[in-house]
Amino acid sequence: MPDCIFCKIVAKELPCYKIYEDDDFLAFLDIQPIAKGHTLIISKKHYNTFSETPVELLSKMIQIVHKIGQAVQKSTNADGFNIGLNNGSAAGQLIMHTHFHIIPRFNDDGLHTWPSIECSEEEFKKINQDIKNNI
Ligand code: AMP
Ligand code: ZN
Repeated sequence: MPDCIFCKIVAKELPCYKIYEDDDFLAFLDIQPIAKGHTLIISKKHYNTFSETPVELLSKMIQIVHKIGQAVQKSTNADGFNIGLNNGSAAGQLIMHTHFHIIPRFNDDGLHTWPSIECSEEEFKKINQDIKNNI
């Protein structure tokens, strides 16, 4: 993936503030952090999106997310953290190389939660059935 920024970081062609590395994964600071300590966790092997990443690899990856999440929270004295993943450009994914975000959160940080929409009983029932049918 010659034009992938994260592959270049893996190959050490670009620098990063590295936090963790093993055979399969790399964690480093986000260069445009939402909060101090905002960390990204990537697999070294390139996959474009979460949906395209093998579930076996994601199972291993979530263990790294858990481990690094604890370290980020402790180091920043955060009250909690968001684990984020933008799956596809419609979801806000800018770098097409699967990555989790860990974003430290504070009780008084003023960051807002997602907005909610109106959903009728009919709509709840329909989407509930449609999703179940697609599992
Ligand atoms: P996403 O929108 O989920 O694809 O997020 C991509 C993230 O990568 C953004 O939060 C960027 O700030 C971050 N980012 C882009 N380039 C770099 C880089 N060279 N080093 C660290 N983080 C980066
Ligand atoms: Zn890549």
